[in-house]
Amino acid sequence: MPTLFQQIQAGKVWDFHGGIHPPSRKERTNQKPVALLDIPDRLYIPLRQHIGVAGKVLVKVGDRVLKGQALTQAENAMAVPVHAPTSGMVLAIDLHTSTHPSSLAEPTLVLAPDGMDEWRPRKPLDPEQVDVYTLLERIQESGISGMGGAGFPTHIKVNVKQPVDYLIINAVECEPYITADDMLMQERASDIIAGIEILVKLLSPKAVLIGIEDDKPIAAASLKAAIGQKDNYFVREVPTKYPSGGEKQLIQLLTNKEVPAGRRPLDIGIVMQNVGTAFAIAQAVLDDIPLIHRVVTVAGETLAQQQNVLALIGTPISDLLNACGFQAEPQQRIIIGGPMMGFAIADWSVPVVKTTNCVLAPTENELGAASDEMDCIRCGACADACPASLLPQQLLWYSKAKDQDKLAEYNLSDCIECGACAYVCPSEIPLVHYYRVAKADIRETQREALKAEQAKARFDARTERLEREKQERLERNQQLAAQRVAQQQASGQATQSAAAVQQALERTQQQSGQSLDKEQIIAERERKKAEALAYQQQKQQAQIATPAEDQAPGTAEDPRKAAIAAALARAKAKKQAEAQPEAVEQTAPAEIAPDMDAKKAAVAAAIARAKAKKQAEAQPEAVEQPTPADTAVPEVDAKKAAVAAAIARAKAKKLAEAQPEAVEQSVPAEIAPPEVDAKKAAVAAAIARAKAKKLAEQAEAPLQTEAKATTERALPPERQEPATTPEQDAKKAAIAAAIARAKAKKQQNSEPL
Ligand code: SF4
Ligand code: SF4
Repeated sequence: MPTLFQQIQAGKVWDFHGGIHPPSRKERTNQKPVALLDIPDRLYIPLRQHIGVAGKVLVKVGDRVLKGQALTQAENAMAVPVHAPTSGMVLAIDLHTSTHPSSLAEPTLVLAPDGMDEWRPRKPLDPEQVDVYTLLERIQESGISGMGGAGFPTHIKVNVKQPVDYLIINAVECEPYITADDMLMQERASDIIAGIEILVKLLSPKAVLIGIEDDKPIAAASLKAAIGQKDNYFVREVPTKYPSGGEKQLIQLLTNKEVPAGRRPLDIGIVMQNVGTAFAIAQAVLDDIPLIHRVVTVAGETLAQQQNVLALIGTPISDLLNACGFQAEPQQRIIIGGPMMGFAIADWSVPVVKTTNCVLAPTENELGAASDEMDCIRCGACADACPASLLPQQLLWYSKAKDQDKLAEYNLSDCIECGACAYVCPSEIPLVHYYRVAKADIRETQREALKAEQAKARFDARTERLEREKQERLERNQQLAAQRVAQQQASGQATQSAAAVQQALERTQQQSGQSLDKEQIIAERERKKAEALAYQQQKQQAQIATPAEDQAPGTAEDPRKAAIAAALARAKAKKQAEAQPEAVEQTAPAEIAPDMDAKKAAVAAAIARAKAKKQAEAQPEAVEQPTPADTAVPEVDAKKAAVAAAIARAKAKKLAEAQPEAVEQSVPAEIAPPEVDAKKAAVAAAIARAKAKKLAEQAEAPLQTEAKATTERALPPERQEPATTPEQDAKKAAIAAAIARAKAKKQQNSEPL
């Protein structure tokens, strides 16, 4: 059995599934030479005309550029530059409607041709004298991308490391109306073969297979003539059937190989290029002419001259149509591409780009008006016509449902959007439209998934970095701690503690913003302790100075009562001193309370005096008897009189305790009713004192001296009281009176009513 290569050599051609035979209408243009057009007034050159990214702009508005001058520069492998199709001035670099089904605006350079068509210096290369890298570089710098399909950068497609069995040149051009490649082959076959030879040098294939439909006999003959006697160059004429020009379909036609789903032709050892691309490579390498023009079929019954033209890249479609005698109809449709795979445009100012092979301006009846879509009747005609062996009706169903999983399961990606299914559909369903929308959705989903995946990768990398840095910090701290321990051990524990305390103190001072001195703090603390201790001692002494038995209930809380009790105690002591001078020495210090409040005592005395006065008014005889003032000799001073009164009251109290019934008789003042007016008592006391004072003044000084001497004789010198002033005597008298009243009150409170 012959091998595949032997079968190819024998001229065998295979077939593919499906396909249709629409009217070709190629005869309108394949008999006329390619026309040269006048240079248009404006050229709109999109900065990106291929799959990939745009290059860096090298010119600015106002610059004059020469024909063939690069306007952009490729900055990565997926970029190819664009060039000035003619000499002129850069008018603008702005957004302009793109030549794309989306009609989105994209960055476009507007060039005003100057009519001189002045070339930049050119540097042709001899393919036999340069290496493949130089050839690849020239191809890229010339801005060459696929001219028969999506516009994939050619220098990437032909820069392969894998072995290539077959280089297939696509010269089928199966779509109706389009004859651009046909005319190019008829007129420039030798240039095309020169371009193929450069590709052969780059790819080193076993054989070159040029596939061309059998409705292009002139082109086929021209190619065969250009090939001559070259070995392993085969021109294979395939039956005219749409879409024989599809990449996978042509591979199957010429090699009987099928490209697996989701794989590339290179995976089965095949590289395919378009004849227009081969021509552009030849021009770029041999003549240093970048891709600045291309052959475009301008067809349609609204045109006076349907023909192929060599159009400059950037030529507005409207200029192209006008150059061919365009007569627009109402509701005129303009289609870029053929009637099967082309797309309509609304803005006729969009330019010719590197992939524009045809412009159709049909009349309303020429292609038939689009009719209303009807429901699928499951006839299966679409599946029969599909060259990719797909199930178009199932793809339609899942496209409408936006079920991307099912679309993937039914291999939507293998659809070449040839439109054969829609062409045969009796329900007039625009199937390709649904597939394009579904593909766009899938691409968007894949983009989002890719972005999410990249974001996750960045997040994972960040998390890993943070964890690594944390671990490094931990290890570093451990090392530093170990170093500190070693240093402390070396310098001694005491030094360590002192340093730690000092550091802690410094930290505290820094944190609080204060700079307290340590010694000051300690001194302040000691001072407060001493104050507290002194206060406690004082308090204890005060309790000792006031015996518990002399304190009336509530004395501790009532300072006035405490003062009265103290005065009473002093009076007792004085009395005792008079009676037993030796006892004074023991009691007097306690009687004289240092904290005696003279003011309060004076008030109490005033109250006592008022009581006495009132009593004197009520019972003059009773007052006269016990009042010391009345019984005292004139030389006795008021102080002694007060003391005597106090003593008398004390006796009365004692008597009352022993003989309660006698109290009423002997001490009527002590049991004065509670309602006695204190004011009146004070007045009486004052009167008594005044009387005493008067008597004292009337007495002769010798008497006073004698009395004093008598007193001094009665007491030892060391126990004699110091001489007192009249004010002091009055004060003491008041105190004594207060004591008396307090006692009386106490007695009154203790007696049952
Ligand atoms: S457009 Fe797609 S589904 Fe329809 S016939 Fe072509 S390849 Fe098949
Ligand atoms: S050709 Fe149209 S009507 Fe028939 S099965 Fe396909 S989609 Fe449905």
